[in-house]
Amino acid sequence: MNYNTTEAFAQELDQKDPLKEFRNEFLFPKNQDGKPQLYLCGNSLGLQPQQTANYIQKELQDWANYGVNGHTEAEHAWMPYHEFLSESMAKIVGAKPHEVIVMNTLTVNLHLMMVSFYEPKGKRNKIIIEADAFPSDKYAVESQLKFHNIDPAEGLLLWKPRPGEYTCRTEDLEQLLETHKDEVALVMIGSTNYYTGQAFNLKAITKLGHKHGAKVGFDLAHGAGNIQPDLHNTNADFAVWCTYKYLNSGPGSLGGCFVHERHANSPKLKRFVGWWGHDKSTRFNMRKDFKPMPGAEGWQLSNPPILSMAAIRASLDVFERAGFDNLRQKSKQLTGYLAYLVEELNNPNIRIITPSHPDERGCQLSFQIKGANKSVFDALSKANVVADWREPDVIRIAPTPLYNSYTDVYTFIQRLKQVLA
Ligand SMILES: *Cc1c(COP(=O)(O)O)cnc(C)c1O
Repeated sequence: MNYNTTEAFAQELDQKDPLKEFRNEFLFPKNQDGKPQLYLCGNSLGLQPQQTANYIQKELQDWANYGVNGHTEAEHAWMPYHEFLSESMAKIVGAKPHEVIVMNTLTVNLHLMMVSFYEPKGKRNKIIIEADAFPSDKYAVESQLKFHNIDPAEGLLLWKPRPGEYTCRTEDLEQLLETHKDEVALVMIGSTNYYTGQAFNLKAITKLGHKHGAKVGFDLAHGAGNIQPDLHNTNADFAVWCTYKYLNSGPGSLGGCFVHERHANSPKLKRFVGWWGHDKSTRFNMRKDFKPMPGAEGWQLSNPPILSMAAIRASLDVFERAGFDNLRQKSKQLTGYLAYLVEELNNPNIRIITPSHPDERGCQLSFQIKGANKSVFDALSKANVVADWREPDVIRIAPTPLYNSYTDVYTFIQRLKQVLA
């Protein structure tokens, strides 16, 4: 696409945008003067869909009307409620519905998956993660190592960018696996790195991990609702994600979990279980022996919080109507436009550390600010821009295709220019 720097160009792109109406379905926070904020922070907390309150209100009303009988008599019966989410969620991550379950929260799901897919045996006991993984992922992985009496200093291997580079190369992961031949039990990578915005080649990583005898899992916290991870075809063993970032389902909302269908009926896999993972036809017989549901559902522990699931349903319905292929197409163009405008600024104090190829990133661009100058970020906040700052020196900007416009991106650049001047 040939971009240019005029405001008229941004307006023209907005007029032609087939998804432009979706912006009106979201609630934009306002500043103290009542002006809507320029919200570019969907990578941290997605905005609230207008419909979410109605979906939640409906469940409150059914609770009032039916009490316990809402489990079977509510319009969207609570007992199978999680099943209403699986099909749309599966589309978003590119999985089959029985490979996907909404349950718990991200870090909890990561632990449950490691119980099943991290099985240290002899010298094959190491875990590879990317060098600047999200702290919670690193803590979780380290605690699993310790749980198995393995010192993280020995057991944790970091896939690092080369000196002077910001993003990781697949061939270096291969090298790491070769160097530690027969020692790696699990490769667990954030599908889209939260800091750099780099989207990894999940299929290539899975192939490499499996070739070297390791299990492979992904954290899609920054991937779900952003990139098209095509999970089933990557052949990954498992994946986990949250729904409050790009999936707009509210603060602390439930997480998602993927278990590849080849593990759907694996009685040998160890797992931590609870009654909601038990075969639903006999769940209420309260039998003493556990018989798991086939597929990802068999990893459920508890009966789930319906109010949070109602918010997820509200959000997934928006994604269904927009269509994920359309969203991804707009996203590439919108983020490409942001990258173009930043490059046109030609400012030596700003460097984009996110890969430039659209297939190697989602919507987020990470700007490194020279001299770790946080005053740039603070001034942007004063100028009514919501973005986020990550120590030591990065501003993350995430124009999301559902509710951000080309004019938002244009306006952001005008404010950035003022701040830099
Ligand atoms: C946001 C995020 C988390 C947060 O985990 P919760 O368990 O949902 O609090 C974990 N890992 C990554 C990579 C994230 O981006």
